[in-house]
Amino acid sequence: MVRLEDTKTRRPLPTAEEVKALAAQFEAKSAEDLIRWTFDTFGGRAAFCTSFQAEGMAILDMLHEVDPSARVFTIDTGRLPQETYDLIDRARERYGMAIEVYYPDHEELASMVAKHGINPFYRSYSLRLLCCELRKVHPLSRVLKDLDAWVTGLMRTQSSTRAETQKIERDEVHGGIIKVNPLADWDSSRVWDYLRANNVPYNALYDRGYTSIGCAPCTRAIGPGEDPRAGRWWWEKGMPKECGIHPAIVRRNGGSAKPG
Ligand code: SF4
Repeated sequence: MVRLEDTKTRRPLPTAEEVKALAAQFEAKSAEDLIRWTFDTFGGRAAFCTSFQAEGMAILDMLHEVDPSARVFTIDTGRLPQETYDLIDRARERYGMAIEVYYPDHEELASMVAKHGINPFYRSYSLRLLCCELRKVHPLSRVLKDLDAWVTGLMRTQSSTRAETQKIERDEVHGGIIKVNPLADWDSSRVWDYLRANNVPYNALYDRGYTSIGCAPCTRAIGPGEDPRAGRWWWEKGMPKECGIHPAIVRRNGGSAKPG
């Protein structure tokens, strides 16, 4: 059970060596085991960050079983598809869990729009990163600065850029807090088997050919044989299909996590 005081005091964070050992220890363990360990260890200083994609819904379902009082949050960029907003409400009803919603800073957005227009992302990679930075990265950083651990839905199979994802990592960009990826060794078929077996609600866009779902203007369905993340920022060629909320991944793959 998460109590208010649990959210205040920072737990001692494991060192880089300890995190490596933990990652090795949890590699063969189940996603549920890792989720349980995270919230047992960090309590209200841990939270699950989700954009309500298929992987996120699988984790949410497991988390509800493990600890229904665990913290869950999402970033509402202001540009999400209606289908995602619908799913957030369905998830809230299904699990009865409080879902914290965080938003971009109004003044930062107003300044970007005044300077670059309402849809700057189509004009250049650096303007796309700027939009992601203001709408996703900044709100996320504000949440993470008060956490000791966060849980994500990253999987090694989501794209070549995510192939090195560990189940437990030190998030150096966010002060060395712990980043937990319980589905790191899963793939999409396993996620969908889980959702079907447990009758878990999912985003209606998956039934229309979408395989990765972000903001409405930057996501489309993919064609046969395309990379599952090809529908994200589909007009960009040769750039990491990342928004900057996982900067270590962008850097590992030769991109910049900041607008240039
Ligand atoms: S995905 Fe598109 S709309 Fe959403 S924050 Fe990034 S650039 Fe902006």
